[in-house]
Amino acid sequence: MLSSKQPVLPLQQCKILRILRSEGPLSRWQLHLRAKLRPNTVGSHVAELLQQGLLREQPAEANGPGRPRVPVTIDTGTLHVVGVAIRPGQVEACRLNLCGQMLGKVHSLPVATPTDTVCVAKRLLGKVANDQTYLVGLSTTGFVDTAARRILLSSALPDENVASLDSLIDVAGGRRLAVENDMHALAARWLQEHHRQPTEDVVLVYLEDGQLGSALLVRGEPNWGCLVGGNELGHTTLPVETDRCYCGNVGCMERICSSEFLCRQGAQRLPLLEHVSRFDGSQPEMNRMIELLSIGLANCVNFVRPHRVVLVSPFTRFNPFTETLVGAVRSRLMRALSDRVAFHYWDQGANSPGEAAGWLALAAIYYPHWAKAILEPAEG
Ligand SMILES: [Zn+2]
Repeated sequence: MLSSKQPVLPLQQCKILRILRSEGPLSRWQLHLRAKLRPNTVGSHVAELLQQGLLREQPAEANGPGRPRVPVTIDTGTLHVVGVAIRPGQVEACRLNLCGQMLGKVHSLPVATPTDTVCVAKRLLGKVANDQTYLVGLSTTGFVDTAARRILLSSALPDENVASLDSLIDVAGGRRLAVENDMHALAARWLQEHHRQPTEDVVLVYLEDGQLGSALLVRGEPNWGCLVGGNELGHTTLPVETDRCYCGNVGCMERICSSEFLCRQGAQRLPLLEHVSRFDGSQPEMNRMIELLSIGLANCVNFVRPHRVVLVSPFTRFNPFTETLVGAVRSRLMRALSDRVAFHYWDQGANSPGEAAGWLALAAIYYPHWAKAILEPAEG
């Protein structure tokens, strides 16, 4: 078994699939014009994609004299991808067709003890994958070492710092596994739903009660750094007392963005979403939290200089909170940046981590540079 940097499909086939996904059915001749590939090259790639079950032909259209044109389109009825998401205390899995529509429901299983996490994921994958599964997307919180096929340091595995993915690769039975951090899975979904021709640099920031994650896309490509993981904005520390984070530190942004932190400041014990929904600027504990979060976010924006910041959170449904937070971030940016950085809110993004993991598998099919962290099955 080897970790691979090979794309899932040849680059020209990825290109053909991307064009068909965004433009709908096209004839081989139209594909030749759109993809700027020779007609023969298009013909042989399309034949391979048809044979694999990734494309299908539609009824021929009469088009003046000569042979009628046969449009080809993404086959959403034969193959699917499976997304598996490893979360603290839970594993989720679901199937998506090749255009990202959910097939059936999201399956989930609780994880009673963290040491069982990979075992539970294995069971769920065995249940959801079948002969029509083309690729599996696996997302996890924390870091993944794809060379050693291990999950390192994850909030899902607080006591068991390292978990081998070997058994999961075995259950995938000959299929490849696109393994990534959960923030990159979210970024994969955002990219495909909002931004099919990426030209911008984007920072995604996920905010929930006790969770703060981020991902950086540079011209549509995730930043991998030295290890597969999200960008650790959540574990950027500020000089403030918080509960101790699972990473071992105190003052992490992820601990500040929490109902525990508000309690520590003297606020009523309520879920953070409740505090956010009631926010009108008069709650000193919330003002303190927003001030600290805006320091961390503004430093990130100053450092990265992205075109766009996407706040992924149910909190963005509440304007007074969101506007105050974004206003506080902007007030701390360099002026030249503040005028140019766009903020985008996405409240639906993180509804199902299993679904996002499925979008990760799709990203690895359509965008060759997303297939960096692919685990191959054993030879033979
Ligand atoms: Zn931390």
